[in-house]
Amino acid sequence: VADRLEEGRALAQDVWSVFNAANLPADCINLGQGYMNFSPPQWIKDAASEALSTVVANHYSHPKGRLRLREAIREYYSPILGRQLDVESEILVTSGANEGQYSVLTAFLNPGDEVIMFEPFFDQYLPSVVFNAGKCVYVPLHPDPTKPKPTSDDWKIDFDELRRAITPRTKLIMLNTPHNPIGKVFTREELLKIAELVEEFNLIAMSDEVYDTLVYDGKEHVRFATLPGMWDRTVTVESAGKMFSATGWRIGWLIGPSWIIQPTLAATTRIVFCSNSPMQEAVAAGLEQCTKRRFVETQCAEYTERRQILTDAFDRLGARYTLPEGTYFLLLDISNVTWPEDYPFPASVEGRGRDFKACWFIAMEIGVSTIPVSEFYCKEHVGIGESFARFAFCKDTDTLHKAAERLQGLG
Ligand code: GLN
Repeated sequence: VADRLEEGRALAQDVWSVFNAANLPADCINLGQGYMNFSPPQWIKDAASEALSTVVANHYSHPKGRLRLREAIREYYSPILGRQLDVESEILVTSGANEGQYSVLTAFLNPGDEVIMFEPFFDQYLPSVVFNAGKCVYVPLHPDPTKPKPTSDDWKIDFDELRRAITPRTKLIMLNTPHNPIGKVFTREELLKIAELVEEFNLIAMSDEVYDTLVYDGKEHVRFATLPGMWDRTVTVESAGKMFSATGWRIGWLIGPSWIIQPTLAATTRIVFCSNSPMQEAVAAGLEQCTKRRFVETQCAEYTERRQILTDAFDRLGARYTLPEGTYFLLLDISNVTWPEDYPFPASVEGRGRDFKACWFIAMEIGVSTIPVSEFYCKEHVGIGESFARFAFCKDTDTLHKAAERLQGLG
């Protein structure tokens, strides 16, 4: 296992512990790890308190998840997916999206099975594949260096490259739309081309769609499971943390055909047995009421305003960034940021990509912490990620305005 981990870089200190509030000056504004500096809405917190005062909600739930939550998931997603979901065999509540993905990999990977992922990739995918004895195969998304004002749509898949990455050992492809960290919302055309390959090579698609409620500018979020022939090959990953600003509640869910959900249930039962019961009740209330309250629409409008505060700041600076069409992340090109040769970097930053140094320097000197994007690339491709810092804009507008002001110091 140690060898595999070494190979997968998973033994290195992860980026979240390096760029952590504990290591940074107290007044540094945290636009690093993607969590909010505000709470879930009061009506969802009220449902959590209510759940705590009933006896059953304080105890184990069924490993599949509490029935009320599975029913709420069925009611919310059946119309979106265009099929009536079965709460017994096609929905599984998990302890956050990470645990859900991990359990799918535990259920399906045999040693040496290959998993395709697009780079940059959410860093958790790599150790999750490696811990389950799988092998990651990377296909980079290509930015367009010629565009002065790129959007996340300008990061493209080379489909020949994707086809070449598939081997007889390929078992699964990881998809992530809207994409962390680029903010790319994959187009129907792109997803249809991926679906053709999934069909041709008999693959499982794990579609991480945890940012599906955060899509801007009228862009369409296409669910991979709704493409022709894809329901039966796709497991969709969702997260209450992103949807309801409750990242510490650790509630997520998987939706897919019974043949994927049932073995995954066996894995999740042995890993966590069941997920946090009272929070499942609160998330059920969230899903039950969110349409009536127009919660997703209102939240999305708020995030559009948050994104604007950052993009205005970067436009004032004349900085080059990728305008995200989804998620709460934005990539800034940091290739021009420089620092004195003798700048005192800590050991955890010293041996890493240039972006680790730039992000450390920006945190210390400008007072805004961000995430270096080379963490989202394999060792061989660190060079592509080194040009970018990821800013998380899941913060209240006052904080973002304050950060925007500080960022003018980059000019
Ligand atoms: N998904 C979040 C992010 O990308 C949280 C990271 C994590 O789970 N450690 O910032």
